[in-house]
Amino acid sequence: MTIAATLDKVAQIADVDAIGYLVCHHPDPDIAASLRDLSDLLTRDDVQVVTEWRAQALLKHYGHRFGYYLVEEHGWRVPLGPGRELEFQLTPYLHFPGAMVSYDTRSATLFSSDLFGGFVPDSDVLVSHDLDYIIDAARPFHQHYMPSTELLTAGLTRIQLRWPHIAQVAPQHGHIIPGEIVDAAFAALKGIDCGVFTLADADIDLKRLLRISEAKVRITEALLTVAEPASLVAAMNTILTSTHEASDCALFIDVPEQGWTMWGKGLAKPLRRDPDPRWPTVDLLGPPAALLSLRTMDDVPPDEDLMRMLADMASTVRPAIDEYLGHLIESQRSAAYLEASLTDPLTGLGNRRALVNQGPSGDYSLISLDLDHFKAVNDTFGHAAGDTVLTRVAQVLTNSVRDGDRVFRLGGEEFLIVLPDAGEASAVAIAERVRTSVRAIDFTGLAPGGRVTISEGIASVVNAGLAEFHEALEEADGALYESKETGRDKITVRHSPA
Ligand code: GH3
Ligand code: MG
Ligand code: MG
Repeated sequence: MTIAATLDKVAQIADVDAIGYLVCHHPDPDIAASLRDLSDLLTRDDVQVVTEWRAQALLKHYGHRFGYYLVEEHGWRVPLGPGRELEFQLTPYLHFPGAMVSYDTRSATLFSSDLFGGFVPDSDVLVSHDLDYIIDAARPFHQHYMPSTELLTAGLTRIQLRWPHIAQVAPQHGHIIPGEIVDAAFAALKGIDCGVFTLADADIDLKRLLRISEAKVRITEALLTVAEPASLVAAMNTILTSTHEASDCALFIDVPEQGWTMWGKGLAKPLRRDPDPRWPTVDLLGPPAALLSLRTMDDVPPDEDLMRMLADMASTVRPAIDEYLGHLIESQRSAAYLEASLTDPLTGLGNRRALVNQGPSGDYSLISLDLDHFKAVNDTFGHAAGDTVLTRVAQVLTNSVRDGDRVFRLGGEEFLIVLPDAGEASAVAIAERVRTSVRAIDFTGLAPGGRVTISEGIASVVNAGLAEFHEALEEADGALYESKETGRDKITVRHSPA
């Protein structure tokens, strides 16, 4: 439809009857269908269509009289005269499998096929210096016709590597781009988000798809920088709400040995919570399962394209969640190991290692205590009876102290009670309570005389640092030893030097 006008323009600068080559960079019918008309309009009988085999396979169907010059059979070049060639470079799938661009070695002009073209160019403008205008015009074309940003970027980069000096770009449609903005134009084109329509089956709502596509890009970017669910869901929330595709979203992960756990907007900590069946969800992970749950604007049904995009994103989100769960399970496991390593298995009390880890400081008292004649329990009633006695005594100790006090089993039948902020007087009161409580237990059939007594030693310190703890412990042990030496079933207080 436009070939006559085009030839008129050509006639203003060159002799139409001199045309010997018709270069076809890609066989779009809007141009290529004019081959039949050109068969009549051009006069030379040796005109050749310069193209590549994939385009040739289609061009022959237009019905024309011209021969073919296949560039791949001629070293990807057409000689134009002494010292001048038209060189070719494939740009696969941009936007035809065998699409090419070419470069005039004398004028350093890149004939860019559709790579720099835009829809509805202003036909009065031949050369445009306005980069924003050029890119704004190219963007919708590229979004519709170019398959992916990755392919476009790869194709553009290959062109730049092949021809580092480009004096001007001459697109098939659009405007000539002058040398001074060529580099900037390449860079801006690489930023165009292509392949948008691979997201939708038959949808023509471009703006909405672009919003979804933008959300996809931003979620992908967010995934590169956030590694844990709280930030992930915060980023998703910001992105999805700003694109008006959802009003809220939450991430649910079925955490092993913990169950469904929810991360959501404004939650400082994740909550144990089952996914809300009323919210549309996207599966992010097989077992252990993870779901992204969306609340849509005004609770309208979920947008299918959005859900499809999020489902596509699942494979990107999955490694982050997998990694998070891996860390979580590992830290749960090592917390369990740590807990076990600090706990006495018989009584469940903290052991000596736990005491070293949590040595007190400031003002506190220590009660060191030991069962009297415990060997006789074992010797008379057996080791199992001894174990039972130890367990029952441990329970009494735990029940006799205040919240915040801590009881440790340091070995054999030896215990320590740590009383933070307790002075000597209250330590003595507690020690006495413990002594009478143990004495009151009925150990019939488990201990000689059915009773067990304990000896205790108390040390109180004021304003002590961690370093003084071992000293205080020795003081308490010394006091305990004194209780043993002076008759057992009693309390000795070791007064700290003033
Ligand atoms: P004293 O009044 O001087 O403290 O005398 P004692 O018999 O209580 O002290 P001794 O240190 O002579 O004996 C402690 C006994 O405690 C020896 C050991 O076999 C026993 N014992 C240590 N740990 C356990 C345990 O876990 N279970 C049992 N059943 N016995 C234990
Ligand atoms: Mg003992
Ligand atoms: Mg002992």
